[in-house]
Amino acid sequence: MANIVILGTQWGDEGKGKVVDLITPSFDIVARYQGGHNAGHTVYVEGRKIVLHLVPSGILRPGTLCVIGNGVVLDPRAFLDEVEALKAVAAVGPERIAVSTHAHLILPYHSLLEKADEERLGEKKIGTTCRGIGPAYEDKAARRGIRAGDLLDLDVLKEKIFDNTKAKNASLRVCGLEPLDPNEVFDRYAGFASALRPYIQDTSRLLNGRIKSGASVLFEGAQGALLDLDHGTYPFVTSSSSTAGGVCTGLGVGPTVIDAVLGVTKAYTTRVGSGPFPTELLDETGKTIARRGDEFGATTGRPRRCGWFDAVAVAYACRVNGIGLLALTKPDVLDPLPEVKVCTGYRYKGSLLRDFPSEPWVLERVEPEYRTVPGWAEPVLAKRDWAALPPAFRDYVRLLEDLVEAKAAVISTGVERIQTVFIEDALEGWVDLARIREAMDRPA
Ligand code: GDP
Repeated sequence: MANIVILGTQWGDEGKGKVVDLITPSFDIVARYQGGHNAGHTVYVEGRKIVLHLVPSGILRPGTLCVIGNGVVLDPRAFLDEVEALKAVAAVGPERIAVSTHAHLILPYHSLLEKADEERLGEKKIGTTCRGIGPAYEDKAARRGIRAGDLLDLDVLKEKIFDNTKAKNASLRVCGLEPLDPNEVFDRYAGFASALRPYIQDTSRLLNGRIKSGASVLFEGAQGALLDLDHGTYPFVTSSSSTAGGVCTGLGVGPTVIDAVLGVTKAYTTRVGSGPFPTELLDETGKTIARRGDEFGATTGRPRRCGWFDAVAVAYACRVNGIGLLALTKPDVLDPLPEVKVCTGYRYKGSLLRDFPSEPWVLERVEPEYRTVPGWAEPVLAKRDWAALPPAFRDYVRLLEDLVEAKAAVISTGVERIQTVFIEDALEGWVDLARIREAMDRPA
């Protein structure tokens, strides 16, 4: 089968976890290419809620190999805790999870410095999770990071931890924080090393070898396209490449191995943290969406800002990622609304913008231009067939497809795996639908 990328088309939390978990039976490998444990994918399996942060969502399907690529930043404690917690619901261990030697590690000074930086920014803060992800990527770019591969040699690890901790202590002192003891940091990480060692390998070689011998790979993105470091609403973005381009740099595979990109998109829009959000609803409708959609972060519990579907933003995400297929999630949240709005353009200084502006300060000042469509009166919740969906909702899907120029392939109609509509002709050639359907009701 094909190798496909699944990523979010908005500001994250689109429901990628459910879609990846659902489609995984069609793939041999699921590989994460960026982000850290700031990501939070929630998957429901037979009423049981499972939240994944670092481990790819494919872990809940027996036999699937999960790869954490070099583009990911890894907090060893968070990784080991997650693996431990997953033991209750899935077979986990080095035979199922591979961590790249080149994945950079998050160290204790990273989160301390991030918190201090966010506090310093005050009103202008980014709204990060303060888990040290951004500072770990900073060290990577500054060529002083410590990588998973360094855990394989304790002498190398010790030297790097000592050099880095001493240098970071100067920054901690400037922030009025207590310096860290390099010996303590080393002892902790040497402890992690023995537990992590069996997972660490050259994942680029592993992936390319497996692809050559016919394995199919699902490349799993975290966060969303509009949070991409280069293409997102900078500076209110994440510190990694969440767009499809990140697959190649974040896993060490060539672009020619990617056959298709599937964009996961919510039937409305949400955003966590600061930054421009043209279709944000600060009224009762926004609150209804937040409540019905349970829009609180899986990782932080922070309430998400909610608004109407922004077709200008999603069309942009489709463009920068080469998205041809969409997985539309959470339309059931809009079930009771008498009418639904879709943003089709932005008014800015008297003109109508149809393209997503490249400057976030423009985005902050635009007024959304809406198309209003009737609600679908009858719920879409738990529907499993296209034909069973209410006609007004099908019109809504067609409208979104036209506006963003991509084809709906999956429509999620609830949190459970079985609450899904597959558009067979759109998925043809990309996934083995028979295998997905057969596995749909099977417990993990
Ligand atoms: P991710 O980071 O993109 O995986 O998204 P999250 O896990 O943070 O948020 C998605 C939430 O929406 C999870 O709690 C999912 O269980 C839930 N979800 C996914 N699809 C649907 C759907 O079709 N309807 C509803 N109501 N919830 C959904």
